[in-house]
Amino acid sequence: MFSDIEIAQANQMEPITAIAEKCGILPEELEQYGHYKAKVSLDVLKRLKDKPDGKLVLVTAITPTPAGEGKSTTSIGLTQALNKIGKKAIVALREPSLGPVFGIKGGAAGGGYAQVVPMDDINLHFTGDMHAITAANNLLSAMIDNHVHQGNDLNIDVRQITWKRVLDMNDRALRNVVVGMGGKVCGFPREDHFMITVASEIMAALCLATSIEDLKERFGRIVIGCNYAGEPVYVHQLGCEGAMAMLMKDAIKPNIVQTLEHTPALVHGGPFANIAHGCNSILATKMALKLGDIVITEAGFGADLGAEKFLDIKCPYGDIFPQAVIIVATIRALKMHGGVKKTDLGEENVEAVNAGFVNLAKQVENMRAYGLPVLVAINKFSSDTPAEIEKLLQKCDSYGVDVTLNECWEKGGDGGIDMAKQVAAMVEGTNIKPVTMYDKEDSIPEKLTKIVQKIYGGTGVEFTANAKKQIKQLEDWGLDKLPVCIAKTQYSLSDDPALLGAPKDFTINVQDVRVANGAGFIVCQTSNIMVMPGLPKKPAALNMDIDADGKISGLF
Ligand code: ADP
Repeated sequence: MFSDIEIAQANQMEPITAIAEKCGILPEELEQYGHYKAKVSLDVLKRLKDKPDGKLVLVTAITPTPAGEGKSTTSIGLTQALNKIGKKAIVALREPSLGPVFGIKGGAAGGGYAQVVPMDDINLHFTGDMHAITAANNLLSAMIDNHVHQGNDLNIDVRQITWKRVLDMNDRALRNVVVGMGGKVCGFPREDHFMITVASEIMAALCLATSIEDLKERFGRIVIGCNYAGEPVYVHQLGCEGAMAMLMKDAIKPNIVQTLEHTPALVHGGPFANIAHGCNSILATKMALKLGDIVITEAGFGADLGAEKFLDIKCPYGDIFPQAVIIVATIRALKMHGGVKKTDLGEENVEAVNAGFVNLAKQVENMRAYGLPVLVAINKFSSDTPAEIEKLLQKCDSYGVDVTLNECWEKGGDGGIDMAKQVAAMVEGTNIKPVTMYDKEDSIPEKLTKIVQKIYGGTGVEFTANAKKQIKQLEDWGLDKLPVCIAKTQYSLSDDPALLGAPKDFTINVQDVRVANGAGFIVCQTSNIMVMPGLPKKPAALNMDIDADGKISGLF
């Protein structure tokens, strides 16, 4: 078996001009970055504003294992398969971050014979969006410190600045730093922090913005901390939202690349899926809906976390809604939910598949709560046995949910023909109206309780004294009527990673409640979320190399 990079390197890509032409992008709307990548002008949205949208299909998953269940791989493979059966399908995906690339998780460009290419460029600097976001974020940091240094007209309380600097790298040494050292000419010393760029509110705002004007307004609304009177300080008071938006002038345009089977792919934006909403940009999804008849997109983590945020945060802001949902399931994850230890996952265990099905069933129920038709896609691994797969097919059948075997990782589009036919039939003639799990006007505790009861399967929410104080403050500031973005473990439907399967009768514990006012949501954390990951003992970076001819190796 070849590695992902070897498969990608052996692929004869088509020029990006040909890919863009296939989906109706005009030459003047394409801004090329070399031969195989381009940005697409937002003029496309204006030109095609009266054209009806294609059908949106969301790819989500059961509660995952740390390795990922193959949502990106399935999204890409499904798009390839849909094109094979004659459908004009486009995939709209997130952009990878350099942190995970050099850490453990790996890239985010799919895998096997279901990848987007050039995968090395996409996983590395791509078209520079991460750098633009880093610059816009850090311009704001510099403006804050300079404001304080130059006399602090806004009375910013340096002990209560919540805005952090960012870098697109896993670098634990930067989690807690002191800035402004070096005496009078270097500003006022204060404690600061670095996050990874994809955790920045700038990234979340980019992904939820519907135009450059909207992005600028979102930047202006960002709360950077408090003044000495305990009131919020907004970016518009510092006056740098225009310069920040200017830095994003190219980053706001969706990127177009191709799949291994030369079908168009828009890869744009990639916010964290815990402290942010974890979906690609609204602009790229909307553009894909104008250019394609069927658009496949994904949301981070399992359906309880990723799909909930997709449906309750991204869809209302973007005025979009999917017409079908694919839930990716793997035999190995079901076995884990059925009680098998990670080290024993290689052994056949039909009974564990049977027992672990409760997790899949709950995620199916969750998507049906939004009125959405569901197809379960079994992402087939070579270690799966025929008896295990047969058991899962039977379980889906008796539960009453459609199911398909997805072999796109091994066979590309050919491995997903049945899945594509089912998806094409599912979206034919549908007009499913948007549903959300709560009302934006509900109080923060009401919103959270509705999600816990309707989606997680728990009974309610408990708040620490600190979280209660923070909620009161947001209510006093009038900033509490926004969607909630719950940051909890992705390994359980509850907030306890050890509770596998479909736990019941639990409460979740909210410890920290903060507004991301520019992004437009309230982050409710159930535990301490790592916003600047560290590298593992053996980082993936150790396997990577480049030779004298510029050929890359070891990039997955
Ligand atoms: P997710 O989007 O759910 O995080 P990805 O699609 O990124 O998952 O896949 C995670 C990793 O698993 C990738 O390295 C991918 O190549 C690998 N992978 C996905 N599906 C398969 C499969 N069927 N067999 C082997 N490896 C797979």
